Amino acid sequence: MLPLDPQADIGRRAWVACPNCDDRRGCGTCEQGRTCSEHWRYLLSNVGSLLHLQCRSCTHIWTHETHFGATRSPWERVTSGLRRR
Ligand SMILES: [Zn+2]
Ligand SMILES: [Zn+2]
Repeated sequence: MLPLDPQADIGRRAWVACPNCDDRRGCGTCEQGRTCSEHWRYLLSNVGSLLHLQCRSCTHIWTHETHFGATRSPWERVTSGLRRR
């Protein structure tokens, strides 16, 4: 397992399915597309709509294209904490 990235910050989270593990399987909260308190990823950084994520279950690191661009509302459903910077 990789160590947690030094950029990992519990204040910056994203609700994206991990491509490496399937920890959201069977979770009713995640299936409804809600912001689950258990199954979220560390948002290490983002460039436009591209997210750099680390899974807190398996420490897998990957990038995720949200295609949301500059539109705010769908974007804010996926991530939180960006405004605290
Ligand atoms: Zn994972
Ligand atoms: Zn969940």
